[in-house]
Amino acid sequence: MSVPETSLVIPIYNELDNITPLFAALDAALQGLDFEVILVDDGSLDGTGEALDAGAARLGERYKVIHLQRNFGQTAAMQAGIDAARGEVIVTLDGDLQNDPGDVPMLVKALREQDMDVVAGWRKNRQDGLWLRKIPSRAANWLIGRLTGVRLHDYGCTLKAYRASVLKAIRLYGEMHRFIPAWLATQTYTNRIVEVPVRHHPRVAGKSKYGISRTSRVFVDLLFVKFFMRFNQRPMHFFGTLGLSFLVLGLLILGYLFGLKLFTGASIGGRPMLLIGILGVIAGIQWLSTGLVGEMLSRIYYESQGKKSYVVRRTVHLEPAERGA
Ligand code: UDP
Ligand code: MG
Repeated sequence: MSVPETSLVIPIYNELDNITPLFAALDAALQGLDFEVILVDDGSLDGTGEALDAGAARLGERYKVIHLQRNFGQTAAMQAGIDAARGEVIVTLDGDLQNDPGDVPMLVKALREQDMDVVAGWRKNRQDGLWLRKIPSRAANWLIGRLTGVRLHDYGCTLKAYRASVLKAIRLYGEMHRFIPAWLATQTYTNRIVEVPVRHHPRVAGKSKYGISRTSRVFVDLLFVKFFMRFNQRPMHFFGTLGLSFLVLGLLILGYLFGLKLFTGASIGGRPMLLIGILGVIAGIQWLSTGLVGEMLSRIYYESQGKKSYVVRRTVHLEPAERGA
């Protein structure tokens, strides 16, 4: 089969009542586009998987389904779709019709015409709860922008278009699909990331899989993104410098005190300096070893790049090689 220009990646978990309208909306929106749609069934248990198979069989080869072995989470499901995507442009969107497939051609056009790496959807008129969703997400957007230097109004919007070569250079896990633009800032210039307003609809069928516990996990992931962007190559440089300074300081103090004892016979037992010296040595050794552990972890991180955060059970309209099996 020929390679399509645009790949749509849609993570889907227990969305049975949304599948028929989703296929209809995709079919209507994508007329005239050279595309493939990769629907990732994230271990659904309500018959969503069978509904996806039926839709793909009806609409043809351009609709592909990846069934994951269990529920791996939205981020891993997106990664599974991204790994299988062959287009030059990858568009991600939700499968519950809160994102409007009708916006896809506009995003793709903007990416191509403005020669961008990311065109991010901005839900200016977001149709979700105020207290549990909109306000935490405002705080998160502000914080992510401050910490990473990539300021967007709406990190959380799944509807985004990416240049595939850039998106495929990073690997997503945890809740990190929300920070993709920040991650991408380690691969490209931030002025190649733009935002355009998109439509957003209230959920009609099924329910949201997100609550406040997920929001808190997002914040913890964010700390890691920030740390990683800064010290991704050598964690040892951060902890090592800290540890070495404390160690040297502690040793100097202890050396001075021992010298005092040795040459003048003065009593050193009751001096606060002794405590400071000992603490300095202990803290120094601790930080040095933290740095070493960090180095080992970053090595493991890089060496495990080929490892997958999901397991595929079976696919429809995809060759084994295409789905990375
Ligand atoms: N989703 C998924 N795996 C999960 C949770 C969600 O694939 O473990 C999908 C879900 O079916 C939907 C998209 O991710 O297509 C966004 O989820 P949801 O609508 O629950 O998030 P919200 O719109 O409330 O932020
Ligand atoms: Mg939703």
